[in-house]
Amino acid sequence: MSKSRREFIKISALSFGGLVMANPILNAMIGQVQAGEPIDASKIKPVPTYCEVCFWKCAGWVHTDEKGELWKIEGNEDDPHCKGRFCPRGTGGLGMYNDEDRLKSPLMRVEVNGKQTFKEVSWDKAFRFIADKMNQISEEHGPESLALFKHGSGGAHFGKLFKAFGSRNITAPSYAQCRGPREVGFHATFGANINSPEPVDLENTKCLVLIGNHIGENMHNSHVQEMSKAIDNGLEIITVDPRLSTAASKSVHWLPIKPATDIALLLAWMHVLVTEKLYDKAYIDQYAYGFEDLEAHIADKTPEWAEEITTIKADVIRETARKMAYHAPATLIHPGRHVTWYGDDTQRLRAMAMLNALLGSWGRKGGFYFPEKAKVPSFPHPAYPSASWTWKDYLDGKYALAGSSIANVFVDASHPDNKTDKKIKGWFVVGTNLISTIPDTKKTLEAIDNLDLFVVVDTMPMEITGYADIILPECTYLERYDDIRVSPNREPNIAVRIPAAKPKYLTKPSDWIVRKLAEKLKLSAHFNYKSYSEVLDWQLKQMGFSLAEMKERGIIKFDRKNANLYLEEGEEYEFGTPTGMIELYSTDLEMEGFDPLPNYTPHPEPPAGFFRLNYGRAPMHTFGRTANNPNLNELMNENKLWVNPKIAKKAGIVNGQEIWLENQDGVKSEFPIKVRVTERIGMDNVYMVHGFGKSNKKLKRSNGRGISDSQLVTNVMVDPVMGGTGMRGNFVKFVIDKPEREVIS
Ligand code: SF4
Repeated sequence: MSKSRREFIKISALSFGGLVMANPILNAMIGQVQAGEPIDASKIKPVPTYCEVCFWKCAGWVHTDEKGELWKIEGNEDDPHCKGRFCPRGTGGLGMYNDEDRLKSPLMRVEVNGKQTFKEVSWDKAFRFIADKMNQISEEHGPESLALFKHGSGGAHFGKLFKAFGSRNITAPSYAQCRGPREVGFHATFGANINSPEPVDLENTKCLVLIGNHIGENMHNSHVQEMSKAIDNGLEIITVDPRLSTAASKSVHWLPIKPATDIALLLAWMHVLVTEKLYDKAYIDQYAYGFEDLEAHIADKTPEWAEEITTIKADVIRETARKMAYHAPATLIHPGRHVTWYGDDTQRLRAMAMLNALLGSWGRKGGFYFPEKAKVPSFPHPAYPSASWTWKDYLDGKYALAGSSIANVFVDASHPDNKTDKKIKGWFVVGTNLISTIPDTKKTLEAIDNLDLFVVVDTMPMEITGYADIILPECTYLERYDDIRVSPNREPNIAVRIPAAKPKYLTKPSDWIVRKLAEKLKLSAHFNYKSYSEVLDWQLKQMGFSLAEMKERGIIKFDRKNANLYLEEGEEYEFGTPTGMIELYSTDLEMEGFDPLPNYTPHPEPPAGFFRLNYGRAPMHTFGRTANNPNLNELMNENKLWVNPKIAKKAGIVNGQEIWLENQDGVKSEFPIKVRVTERIGMDNVYMVHGFGKSNKKLKRSNGRGISDSQLVTNVMVDPVMGGTGMRGNFVKFVIDKPEREVIS
């Protein structure tokens, strides 16, 4: 294996072909599942699971027939995440199991005739290689030099292995590349995180404000159901978005704001509420700290001031602010989810939290409820060794308000430019395609090139797998046990995942992979069980239940033990902020040297001939993870570029035409994308759904279909408060003929 350079390797289909031909058992398993075939319903056997097609983790039932073949999957009626209904992606989850492009066997990078390639190896050989490398890195640099990037349930098992090995350098891009700024912004204000599912009381909301949040396209199951019910009951929606999203089309007010000016709008809304005395005075008097500072801060942030910046008319700003006040406290400024946009994201989310505070919606019916979650005892294991340093020590006090690890910082610590003594030399990447999730791919690849060990664990051959030293094929969620699902909700609850089928091919569940690797690392004492079912049964028995019982029920709900769902009228309440109050003036931010009250600062505009690149979600896909899923690919197999008709006319491009894109740094898209000419988008930006344009040729259905927005995100604006990566400051121009003829310049 070449140590100097990890070339991207396209995983060979032939590598598994031979294995299949030689193995009759595997042959028999391939293609055995035919979802949707006629079946004798009297013989079906439901197996409880929770969905892994996205992070919402809806609990459901997998129906199998008498031969153990998977038939269909549907929601569990008792589950608050899904209320008995799976979304289209969850229903299509069987496609993950059926996808013939799945990773099928452990693969090791080798060099043959000077060319790098992957070779199938046994699990034992893969484990020996990894354990030797981990021990070598630990001896040379310390166990802390191993880092884990994770997403999804499988990553939790690897987290335990890392702690047992002596590293706390564990991260998930879902924080610094997605929801981190909202956690920091809301925590600085209310002393509580938002977490998942968001504790938004949508079923009782009367006025919902969505800022760049396209719920409905962003299919958060129970929330979409609650929102549609609320719409039937007269919910008024105000959507701020440069694009007429599905939610915007259902709104009483669509504010097609000039991108990157949201903070100005939020300040002006607060100005109207305060100057017209429309805010919840009793609530603010009792619970809030710093109202006078806020009042002075927004005195000159008039709607007319904001109109100049946002292009939203002053009278519309006034009218919408009054509408929010009319319905308060059942008015909800939704915190959103993917909020890493322009680098000042924590401050934008602070402004959204403060607006909620003025409306009195935190802890109130129709605003935010107080969630509660069940406590599940930990399976006994020896104490984890302490780590001599973590990512926080590497940062040396920077981003002190970040409540979780920052994935891009792990890339920095692995990069050759890291001159500190805290170096990361080995990566495990479990269930996350870092090439798409962390911006600045060039830097990520330079960091990968600087590693002594790079292990990828996944179900599919994603872009990141092509750079690995070793690829470990994880089985899908339908073929494994995982940890008990515990998530905060109105009622505490737990749900289980039981395998509905045996792992296909040579794939294995993460708990098994971790246990076997732990044997090689002499860490078996930390994983003292033969099957993960033992762990689950032990945990459930401590709670007065059993795995056998959970197999029948799938989910158990408990009575609340702590606070009420909402604040009682005039109830005394201590918030988790330094002052114990809702902080309109943030003492945490002030202490760290940041603006204690949010300010609007202008952001760069697209140069002539360029358009801001915006991206979002589609209801039938979860990022790039589902692009190749046969069931979901059938529903949508490529993304399209939304272009305003006037822009299309000027550029001479028409509906359905394939074009390429080039960004402000001269980076061109690898593939073309079809144009969708539509009035639903403004003239200064273009839009596409994230997760398409897959480079890996082994993803037969999704390779080369559409464009990957991630490839074009090379300008990254880092949030100074918490280190998140703002990705919406990238501009693209149209390229008609591959490679370069430009239409607009
Ligand atoms: S929202 Fe849909 S994809 Fe996500 S967990 Fe629920 S059913 Fe699965």
